[in-house]
Amino acid sequence: MQGRFANIIVDISHEKVDRPFQYRVPEALSGIPEPGMRVRIPFGSGNNLRTGYIIEMTDEPEFDVTRLKEIHSIIEEGVQVEGRLIRLAFWMKEHYGSTMINALKTVLPVKQKLKQQEKKEICLRVSREEARAEMLECERKHQRAKARVLQELIEEERLPQMLVARKLNISPATFRSLRDAGLISINSVPYYRNPVKLDADREEGHRLSRNQQDIVDTVTADYDNGTRQTYLLRGITGSGKTEVYMELIARIIERGRQAIMLIPEIALTYQTVLRFYKRFGDRVSILNSTLSPGEKYDQCERARKGEIDVIIGPRSALFTPFPDIGIIIIDEEHENSYKSETMPKYHARETAEELARLHGASVFLGSATPSLDSYYRARQGRYRLFTLNERLTGGELPVVYVEDLRKELKEGNRSIFSARLGALLQDRLERGEQSMLFLNRRGYAGFVSCRMCGHVMKCPHCDVSLSEHKNGTLVCHYCGFTQPAVKLCPECGSKYILGFRAGTEQIEEQLHKLYPDKKVLRMDADTTKTKDSYEKILSAFSAGEADILVGTQMIVKGHDFPNVTLMGIMAADMSLSVNDYRAGERTFQLLTQAAGRAGRGKRPGEVVIQTYQPEHYSILHAAAQDYEGFYEEEILYRQLLSYPPVSHILAVQVTSLTEKGGEELAGILKALAEKTEEGREEHTILIGPAPAFIGRINDIFRYVLYIKNPDYDILIRLKNRMERFLKELERKDENVQFDFDPMSSF
Ligand code: ADP
Ligand code: ZN
Ligand code: ZN
Repeated sequence: MQGRFANIIVDISHEKVDRPFQYRVPEALSGIPEPGMRVRIPFGSGNNLRTGYIIEMTDEPEFDVTRLKEIHSIIEEGVQVEGRLIRLAFWMKEHYGSTMINALKTVLPVKQKLKQQEKKEICLRVSREEARAEMLECERKHQRAKARVLQELIEEERLPQMLVARKLNISPATFRSLRDAGLISINSVPYYRNPVKLDADREEGHRLSRNQQDIVDTVTADYDNGTRQTYLLRGITGSGKTEVYMELIARIIERGRQAIMLIPEIALTYQTVLRFYKRFGDRVSILNSTLSPGEKYDQCERARKGEIDVIIGPRSALFTPFPDIGIIIIDEEHENSYKSETMPKYHARETAEELARLHGASVFLGSATPSLDSYYRARQGRYRLFTLNERLTGGELPVVYVEDLRKELKEGNRSIFSARLGALLQDRLERGEQSMLFLNRRGYAGFVSCRMCGHVMKCPHCDVSLSEHKNGTLVCHYCGFTQPAVKLCPECGSKYILGFRAGTEQIEEQLHKLYPDKKVLRMDADTTKTKDSYEKILSAFSAGEADILVGTQMIVKGHDFPNVTLMGIMAADMSLSVNDYRAGERTFQLLTQAAGRAGRGKRPGEVVIQTYQPEHYSILHAAAQDYEGFYEEEILYRQLLSYPPVSHILAVQVTSLTEKGGEELAGILKALAEKTEEGREEHTILIGPAPAFIGRINDIFRYVLYIKNPDYDILIRLKNRMERFLKELERKDENVQFDFDPMSSF
């Protein structure tokens, strides 16, 4: 589409680009301007020529046409990498609501001069023979860690410390002790620009199964005849999805283009990276939160210069400045982490589709439990659906028991373990097999309340209850407020003020009491605070260093433990009580994933789901591993209540320094919406405004207004009207954010 006017962002390196400026397209311009192109324009009072990017072409002038300046010239034909990202930023701003600066900051790599960073390298200081003798000595003394480091250095004299630490799960103290014994040296070496330069031999992929091959062939054939679309692969864990991704990437590379592989950060483990490295060697790189800004920037530079073909990373890896993207793959596409929580509140799936459109690329989604959004689109024929139903490495689906906790209580069982889970746990310990216990909830303890008067300890700055930590300290998880343990109820003076302890730590304590000689590992937000602690717990459990692993969500995501034959789900319905229309979907996904963790090896697995709502459809379908059955019921509920994916929701989130101001502005916005043609449209539903789910955080008051409509564009128009209105209103104490199809309650 060609327009007579161009909206142009000037000088993007400048902090103050808060809005586009409009220019006229002169008749005599050589070339046809299009969004994303770099142009030269007169700017400011001196009319100096500056560089700008066209973000939009239009036929509607914003001001008096005669006062508009003209584009001076087009810098180069075609749209360059940066231009595409800027167009994407503009789309994100429109689609999700945000300022242009925030959108640009999200997509453009932060220019960071790479400081010469130092990394540690370990080096053998004795001869190989001596090292071998020392290694045997360490083994004799049961100093396994030391022996393994020496073994590694005997193979290769000089290695990055981080790599060895991760691979072998070695603590810094072990390295120091080897150094102090004069066996190794630890040196600082200059930064090493490739974060995945692993020492592994390249490997060919597996010979694909018939079903895998069909998928790859279909996508490739589409690609070669110019068809671009979104594909959805529903395949149970272990059915060979990753192998399909790798083959698709290989085909794209053969065709001279690049691939983006999104994986939730939590699943981006050493094992996963190693697998891609073995297949693609130096041509693959990663982005994750442990990289410094300099390292991240460096990966972007490598991509821009064509030094790599594949990037693996969480949602932000989408903005890797590849010149010519051929495919974008999103693994575990149902994960919440694909939705950004800051402005622009974008979803990686839709953003990937837009990016793919700009590049002429395909989008390939995969999951064992696809999001309702994607499955709905697949059912409507907007996505092409593939399924893989068999585990390739053998292993049968586990036997699942649903245990009713109400019944247990009636029968006098006051333990946190149902009779069945208790018996099976005992059985596994006797047989020397591993078990996992999954608590569908974060942290140690819930709220603290008085058993006499019912008073609940709350944060003085937020409308939430405080959580009790191990030493009795009370902490607010929203603002960090902390206060010492309470001995007496501040309301009635009773000493029966106690925490409801139903966390991972309590389960761990119980296990210690029941089985004092067994080893238990715990994985939750508290035990994984430090860098690498997550990987360390995983590898310790894999290596058989514990009998039981207790943990939150983290233990059910993307890791294989072949010796686990029992999975206990402690309180399956915890996530059902969350006030959120996606609660049923999330519960189903978590339970299905958790159940899939048992029996991955040769021996069959058993799963016990403990619940207070054994009749709930999310629980029943998860127990039966029946995705379709769950989908059919859930979609009816979404239809009935006009929730996504059937309809769309715009959440208008108002925060304010005062209670009155917040309520008032939310009310004004509702009235504004009602006055507009979009607000009066037959299918528009306005709900609220009401205090948010958490009405106050850090003394900031929060209100929310929901607007529903099946047509997303209508919601965008409403958002635009509100944005314009707010710009002129200039209220200092209030702030408004937009969240389309929100995935978390505000
Ligand atoms: P998913 O990503 O669905 O969990 P993976 O691709 O990781 O599945 O495959 C599961 C296991 O099966 C892996 O160990 C993988 O190496 C193996 N595998 C995958 N495809 C094949 C194949 N065609 N032949 C043999 N083994 C395979
Ligand atoms: Zn009291
Ligand atoms: Zn607080």
